[in-house]
Amino acid sequence: MNEIDAELNGFAKLGISGQLLKATTAAGFTDPKPIQEQAIPAQLAGRDILGIAQTGSGKTAAFALPILSRIIALGTKRRPKTARALILAPTRELAVQIEETIKVLAKGAHISTALVLGGVSRFSQVKKIGPGVDFLIATPGRLMDLVREKDVILSETTWLVLDEADRMLDMGFINDVKRIAKATHPARQTALFSATMPAEIEQLTQSLLRDPVRVEVAPQGTTAAEIVQSVVLARTKQKRKVLSDMLADEAMSSVIVFARTKHGADRVTKDLERDGFEAAVIHGNKSQNARQKALNGFRDGSVRILVATDIAARGIDVPGISHVVNFDLPDEAESYVHRIGRTGRNGRDGIAITLVDPSENSKLRQVERIIRMKLPVIADHLGQPDPVREPRPQGERNFAPANDGAREGKEQRRDGRPRNDGFGKKRFGAKPHGDRPFAKKHDGDQGERNHGGERPFKGKPSGERHFHGKPKGDRPFGDKPHGERKPEGSKPFRNKRRFNRKPAARAA
Ligand code: AMP
Repeated sequence: MNEIDAELNGFAKLGISGQLLKATTAAGFTDPKPIQEQAIPAQLAGRDILGIAQTGSGKTAAFALPILSRIIALGTKRRPKTARALILAPTRELAVQIEETIKVLAKGAHISTALVLGGVSRFSQVKKIGPGVDFLIATPGRLMDLVREKDVILSETTWLVLDEADRMLDMGFINDVKRIAKATHPARQTALFSATMPAEIEQLTQSLLRDPVRVEVAPQGTTAAEIVQSVVLARTKQKRKVLSDMLADEAMSSVIVFARTKHGADRVTKDLERDGFEAAVIHGNKSQNARQKALNGFRDGSVRILVATDIAARGIDVPGISHVVNFDLPDEAESYVHRIGRTGRNGRDGIAITLVDPSENSKLRQVERIIRMKLPVIADHLGQPDPVREPRPQGERNFAPANDGAREGKEQRRDGRPRNDGFGKKRFGAKPHGDRPFAKKHDGDQGERNHGGERPFKGKPSGERHFHGKPKGDRPFGDKPHGERKPEGSKPFRNKRRFNRKPAARAA
């Protein structure tokens, strides 16, 4: 990197210079993102920032570069147990990611960083901060503990950043955040970033920020334009099969599956493994090591599917996530925006598919209100019977797929299922056609499609809608009414608990 190249870098125009500019360019950041253009000069001028930014907007560099620039100018004298800048993040993964970004941007400068996170030994954290650091990146709970025990002193902290403030609120950290802010230097400079602005965050901004410059890169609650979003209607019992069928499509090359609860995430992961997929899981009950290992595997591409809860996945920045699948809808509609923001990052296309049981219709409507658009329904399984569970030897699929049975002459997938089972590559890879995907191509029997009056369906009858251009004879149940759509040779569902029973010999 020569001086002239660095000078041409758009960050130079924002006031970034010297080694910091070189490192920024070396990191591949040449054109500042909109949030960086707005936030960097204001912070260099000493202003507080209120940043309303969607995930993946480039906010880490937006707050880190101005602070780095000022700290580099201060030199290396630090007081024991203190931190010049404190970055608070809601999750451990986000904190780790922020530290990595800061290290990359600070390359070549003498900048020290430390992490203070729950779930890992505090000994090494206390040791690291002992001589004093430039940047402390922390989750609020553990930091509060260390402040109480006087292992960390915040009175010298003159830069405070609250990242994903709305998430810290959701996670119940708000009082810790207030106490921590109070312990910092009264003349500090503060930046607060949040994707959404609920009333409590609005209040927090009023108490913590002084005459902030408001930077907003997308209207509140809107999602990245590059993400193609859709809905698949499926009852809860059908979701496992629907998900496995989707994932058999190799176009889904790097997928995050979101579950609402930790237990749900574990169950989805186990079911995927039983269905022959390798998946890693990340949620709050996992140890920090297990979470980091899962994340690393997903990041380096060795794990294709990551199952996650909202809390654990918040802020994860893994480039190239092709699909986000919401196995169920989050309790808070705003989490939907964060979930799907895992894909479509850095201007790349992304696809977000949400599986919706009729009981989730009101949550779906809340999401649609927040994102200010109606999500197109690209598949509807509600008219189909629930998958039939049959006892299978361990390690095999645990349910009978609706159109299983290796019929002669059928093209098979890797997992033995025929290809034309309604999950062709195109359907999930392709963008919906305009705002009425699949709508009104056939007259269809609209009356039959009204599921409990909740969400009238505007598309083709379910037997037809996934089989564009395929002859009817190829459809496993193409010409049978729903009630008769039982998989060939399948046995009726008997007793679920039977499969958990001990072998006869032991039971006796
Ligand atoms: P963030 O919102 O900070 O998590 O950033 C999202 C992604 O954008 C990260 O992968 C960054 O490395 C990347 N990024 C941030 N700023 C720039 C930039 N100016 N040019 C290219 N990539 C960037």
